[in-house]
Amino acid sequence: MIQLIKGFKDILPEEISLWQEIEAAAREMFENFGYREIRLPIVEKSELFARSIGDTTDIVEKEMYTFDDGRRGLVTLRPEATASVVRSYIQHKMAAEDPIRKFYTIGPMFRRERPQKGRYRQFYQIDAEVFGIASPLIDAQIILMLVSLFERLEVTDVSAHINCLGCPTCRPFFQKALYSLLEAKKDALCENCVRRSEKNPLRTLDCKVPSCREALAEAPSILDFLCSDCKTHFDTVKQLLDKQNIHYQVDRHLVRGLDYYTRTAFEILTTSLGAQNAVAGGGRYDGLVQALGGPSVPAIGFAIGFDRLAEILSQTRTAAAKRPKIYMAPLGETCRTLAFEWACALNLSGVPTEMDFEDRNLKHHMKRADKFHAAHALIFGDNELTQGHAVLRNMETREQKEIPIVNLVTHIINLIR
Ligand SMILES: [Zn+2]
Ligand SMILES: [Zn+2]
Repeated sequence: MIQLIKGFKDILPEEISLWQEIEAAAREMFENFGYREIRLPIVEKSELFARSIGDTTDIVEKEMYTFDDGRRGLVTLRPEATASVVRSYIQHKMAAEDPIRKFYTIGPMFRRERPQKGRYRQFYQIDAEVFGIASPLIDAQIILMLVSLFERLEVTDVSAHINCLGCPTCRPFFQKALYSLLEAKKDALCENCVRRSEKNPLRTLDCKVPSCREALAEAPSILDFLCSDCKTHFDTVKQLLDKQNIHYQVDRHLVRGLDYYTRTAFEILTTSLGAQNAVAGGGRYDGLVQALGGPSVPAIGFAIGFDRLAEILSQTRTAAAKRPKIYMAPLGETCRTLAFEWACALNLSGVPTEMDFEDRNLKHHMKRADKFHAAHALIFGDNELTQGHAVLRNMETREQKEIPIVNLVTHIINLIR
């Protein structure tokens, strides 16, 4: 038997209604805020991710699905969505017509990390990205939209953590201070962090290794180094969130795992799955469009971990199975043909109807109708046909009603809908 690859998973029909519910809620929320869907390829040139995510990140160094596509060179299964959205924004010269664009995209991402519980090599994200707005108003609005989506899905155990990562003017001062600390604590750091301290010291603050966490507990915060523009920007975001009654915590050591973030960074954390974990994260990335060869356009966005959100929802609700309204219980060959016609007509009219495609007796039909949790069974044999009516049985109350054969589909639609 061929089984799926470790680290991948099937999303089965029993679970899918939660996924659909999340997706529908996200679509509705984003569309109301003026975001439009964009669908992008899952394969891109490897260079796109090396340039946008940064060659020194764990993702690009060892977690990408990259392969040689012959003359087309190295290609990669996307590890995240932002780089592709930016690539598309630049390629279609969207800024020339109107730099302000709001997108969302939902789909699979791929990381070749070691499979572990709750972490998949193909995982799903819900992304939203805004281009062309530098104002802190959009930072506050995007956080409000994200928090509201969780509220609407009744995920209450969430808290928003925010920080400001500075800009190219002020960040170097912070990096210098952090670097001195990393030099001093070198012996306590893990191998990865020693390497990161040279190329990308910020990322050491993200390290989960306990000895690193301890060594860096007293690390300086970027907040102590912000230039006045960054400080004003961050203060405004906080004031706007206060005004909207969005609860948040300032996390002085929050950094994002990716190189291109500037100023506002945020994470939505939850303890719903045990230890506190991020279920969404994002922030501003004002330099990325230009870094990838586009015009200088500010941008901000976030990604929601779809798998994790579905898992959270599955703890509190059971996926609602789709139930047929009518189960056809024909007795005999003539009636079965009729049942087939009526079932097709009812399905097309929006009345979910099931039938057995083999010839069965009444006992079998009733068993199947119960198994499907059908609301009603329509019972008819040759006798009923001669008398001009079929019997509609309410499967819950066992109450029965006669339905005329002539225009039966219309009668049922009027009765059921
Ligand atoms: Zn700054
Ligand atoms: Zn470390």
